[in-house]
Amino acid sequence: MNKVLICNPPSKGADKIIREGRCTQRSSFWSLNYPPLTLAQLTSLLRRDSDVIVETHDFGVGVGFEQAFDKINITPNYAIVNIGSTQFDSDIEFCRLLNKKYQCEIIVIGTHVSSFAQEVLNEFPFIKYVCINEPEFTILKFFKKPMDDSVFVSKENTNVANNFDNSIEELPAPDWSSFELANYKLPSTGEKFLMVNPTRGCPWKCSFCTAPLFYGNRLRTRSVDKVVKEIKDLKDKYGIDNFLLWSDTFTANKKYVKDLCYELKKLNIRWVSNSRVDTLDYETAKVMKESGCWLLTFGIETHNDKTLSRIQKGYKEVDITRGVNAAKDAGILTVGHYILGLPGESCEDMRRTYQKSKELGLDYSQFYYATPFPGTKLYRELSQYNNLTPFDNYSQDHCYYNGIVPVRDLKKLKDEFSIKSLFRVETVNFVGRSFTIRQILKTLLQIRTHLRI
Ligand code: SF4
Repeated sequence: MNKVLICNPPSKGADKIIREGRCTQRSSFWSLNYPPLTLAQLTSLLRRDSDVIVETHDFGVGVGFEQAFDKINITPNYAIVNIGSTQFDSDIEFCRLLNKKYQCEIIVIGTHVSSFAQEVLNEFPFIKYVCINEPEFTILKFFKKPMDDSVFVSKENTNVANNFDNSIEELPAPDWSSFELANYKLPSTGEKFLMVNPTRGCPWKCSFCTAPLFYGNRLRTRSVDKVVKEIKDLKDKYGIDNFLLWSDTFTANKKYVKDLCYELKKLNIRWVSNSRVDTLDYETAKVMKESGCWLLTFGIETHNDKTLSRIQKGYKEVDITRGVNAAKDAGILTVGHYILGLPGESCEDMRRTYQKSKELGLDYSQFYYATPFPGTKLYRELSQYNNLTPFDNYSQDHCYYNGIVPVRDLKKLKDEFSIKSLFRVETVNFVGRSFTIRQILKTLLQIRTHLRI
């Protein structure tokens, strides 16, 4: 019988790394680790519908290489490794060591390897297969008898179609039994939380984002009954009543959101999610608030209409205020994510964005560098000015030249905006209300280390 190891790789420096679909980054200032939804989902599907023996580990919670090998109890003949972009080289090195120690066949998953499957296979001979796009049903097809390796990209099989047609309704509830849930706590209150996946896919095609590449452009929803049952079961089993509703764009379908929220209201839970400014109105936000939603994040990116158009965001600046205000008026805390160094943006454009972000009255604004994640249009655009290869690490801590603003100036802008944003009245209120003194001090120390001040 096949023994299968499923894991998020460890890190040489025992860093905390998030690898969840489009989100591949170092754990944030707030030390938030995402519960590994993809691993939990894959585990439950293989356990339900195949006869393989599965052992699953999330080594991304701050486990080092040696410690990771100590934790593996089976001798796997297959290892499914979730590769991130942040520590691509280290993740691939872990694959090499796994293959060396167990002589197992290595199957890699994730957005980065999906975009450069052939290059990865040619460069790293110890990797046998690349599973492109969302992995669950593809991997199940491979392990179901008779085993079929034509579902993966391999040296022998280069022509593999996208697999976005799967109904996520067929997925069983994720199996969280392999994980130490104490590792996944809300930064503000320290309470445990879990992720639940109501929808997949995103109808938009933002130039920097890997979500449509990984989950496709068609919005797929899970039935309200299934999502509600999953949350209720998690509440009963683990005593958890905080959730991150993890979707590419949770509010893409307002009717679905309202239907779900009417049911969530009965569960007495607290939850957070993401939204797009042009998909949220006050009526929807109010229903969300009443069902336990206390915080929404918006990928605002920039307040510059020319740049919004260039990155194919699909809305204009005027939509930003409307969407954020809908959430604020409903009493939901708001976090805005901004991208600095997008193609075509000057220092003045970014300063104007910062000024507008202040006026918007967000509870917290987070600034990132434009990161050319492999497979995106942004990768191709920034390649003109930077030497990018499929084998580099791509992290939002790393700054790239956009053809206009020198890297050192971009770094100064990010540090300046990040620090100033922390001391805005709304943010001080938000932090003061939500965090303990110890957490605030810890966070300030992390920020100091990050900014090297
Ligand atoms: S709206 Fe844009 S940034 Fe958000 S998930 Fe969709 S493609 Fe990505």
